[in-house]
Amino acid sequence: MPYTYDTQNIFAKILRGEIPNSTVMETEHTLAFNDITPQAPHHVLVIPKGAYVCYDHFALEASEAEIVDFTRTIGKLCAQLGVQPGEGGNGFRLITNAGEDAIQEVPHMHIHLVAGRGLGRILQ
Ligand code: 5GP
Repeated sequence: MPYTYDTQNIFAKILRGEIPNSTVMETEHTLAFNDITPQAPHHVLVIPKGAYVCYDHFALEASEAEIVDFTRTIGKLCAQLGVQPGEGGNGFRLITNAGEDAIQEVPHMHIHLVAGRGLGRILQ
């Protein structure tokens, strides 16, 4: 089934500059900004600038340039926040919710980067 992208979703409005955001990092294809309801000392939402509904839509249809840019931006964010476990940081978690079962609230592909406290187990 083809994806239908809702151009009125809140992240689309952020990308168009219609509502403010707290930008942490911006590149050619990617925007990272603080979550409005942070669940940890660091809670950054990383979104592609392209119109992708959820992770699989992005992974299957984005260009390699967009995917590389997105992936590297997350790496750079981890370095900027000082949370890289291999570099003396305490680590981080990446989460993406896709669709109904995962209770995806905003239908624009995003990854939550959370860090800065013990995060517990999410899968038992
Ligand atoms: P989801 O449940 O779709 O994975 O997560 C959506 C996230 O977007 C939530 O963590 C929520 O707090 C965040 N969010 C919703 N509206 C806004 C907004 O207007 N600005 C920002 N910065 N984050 C938002």
